[in-house]
Amino acid sequence: MNIKNKLQEINNTIPAHVTLVAVSKTKPNEAILEAYNAGQRIFGENKIQEMTQKWETLPKDIQWHMIGHVQRNKVKYMAPFVSLIHGVDSFKLLKEINKQAEKHDRKIDCLLQIHIAVEDTKFGLNEEELIALLTSDEFKELEHISITGLMGMATFTSDKNQIQKEFKKLNAIFKAVKINNPTINTLSMGMSGDYVTAIEEGSTMVRIGSSIFGARNYH
Ligand SMILES: *Cc1c(COP(=O)(O)O)cnc(C)c1O
Repeated sequence: MNIKNKLQEINNTIPAHVTLVAVSKTKPNEAILEAYNAGQRIFGENKIQEMTQKWETLPKDIQWHMIGHVQRNKVKYMAPFVSLIHGVDSFKLLKEINKQAEKHDRKIDCLLQIHIAVEDTKFGLNEEELIALLTSDEFKELEHISITGLMGMATFTSDKNQIQKEFKKLNAIFKAVKINNPTINTLSMGMSGDYVTAIEEGSTMVRIGSSIFGARNYH
């Protein structure tokens, strides 16, 4: 099945309040254009250099989301154009994003990544660190970033109950921090394998790659 049909199939299964990020990492411009021509405008990448090259060559009304782990020394390359950074998990990184955004006279939207999986290899803040960050004075001084939500990745497992439990936990944290942080309204959770569960558990943004573009080839 082609990209257009797969995209349509997914759009038919996700409710209108859920935003679809088409994860195009490792995929060529032709594949992205196929999705673009079918109406998709939001694409997710996990490498800053790759995303920047694609931004330079592809239509300018594409909104580029950085969904991968961000190295501070590379923030400058995406600062002119990135539309949302999903994986922010430290104040130091936030401060660098703020600094680079200021240079471009922009305010960059960011999601704070929360650690919900049992694997300790996944990045992210725990709930205490999240609250500490959001209530700190130094955070309030950052005028060129806006925290618009939270992001999380569930454990890589076929155990649906485990995944459901982790998404429930993230949604509970999301609801709790929303109360005192009016800009927080996005909950980015769910990928090809678990997005249906994620939406059931309150996701408002899903990041889907292989179900649209097919399996990825890593060389
Ligand atoms: C690659 C990736 C996705 C998409 O994964 P699929 O299983 O291909 O849908 C989603 N989120 C993040 C953070 C990723 O790195």
